[in-house]
Parts: sequence; C-alpha cells; structure tokens
Amino acid sequence: MELKNQPSLDISEDLLEAIRSFPITREVEHCGVRIAVAPFDIYVDCPQCGARVKVRSFSAHGEIEDVFDAVFEWMNQPSAQEVARRRQMPSRRTGDPAPDDAQGAETRRATGTRPPANPELP
Ligand SMILES: [Zn+2]
Repeated sequence: MELKNQPSLDISEDLLEAIRSFPITREVEHCGVRIAVAPFDIYVDCPQCGARVKVRSFSAHGEIEDVFDAVFEWMNQPSAQEVARRRQMPSRRTGDPAPDDAQGAETRRATGTRPPANPELP
C-alpha cells in the first residue's frame, strides 16, 4: 500500500471536543448487568456468566480510541512522556520533581517537607 503525503489534516473541532470529554470508564451490559470497563480494554470478563466479552469494535472506519492508541504509541518513544509532561504542566516550575518521581519523594522525606496532598485534583 502506498501512502500519500497529506498537505493538511482534517481535524474537526468535534474530534477535539470528543477527545476532551472522553470518559475515563465505559459501561457495557451483559446478562442484564452493567460492567464498568477501562475505555481502552479490548475484552472484559462478565462477572455474571464468566464470558469474555469483546468491548472494542476495531471497525474499518476510525474511532476515537484509535486516536488515543496512536498517541499512546507515540508516547512509547524515549523522552516522549517527558515532552508531554511539560506540556501538561505549563504553570509549574520546570525544576520540580513530578509527584510520582521516586527520587523527588526521597528528597522530600529527607528534608522533612511534605508533598501537596493531591495536586492533580481540582
Ligand atoms: Zn454475561
């Protein structure tokens, strides 16, 4: 298959809004029971009948999960997560360790300063 270079991508505001409002969990129904599923899981085991249910369609036309998958794939590159983290925290001082930074936590313990309770939550 030969791919042509696209001069510009058609990215609609609808797509951007769909990404912004993408739910953290999705619900599927099996055996009359609603099951909460992580949105990118492909299968879920029904707690009622034990069946393995496919919860992603992988249809021929693109779906929004494909956009996320592409971004996750991009984020697997070395340094990509650091680049993304910088973009996500524009107001933070760049020298601050991330909350999940083990070495930073070690330093905070050693100096007796406490990390903020939960800086990510509003
Ligand atoms: Zn079931």
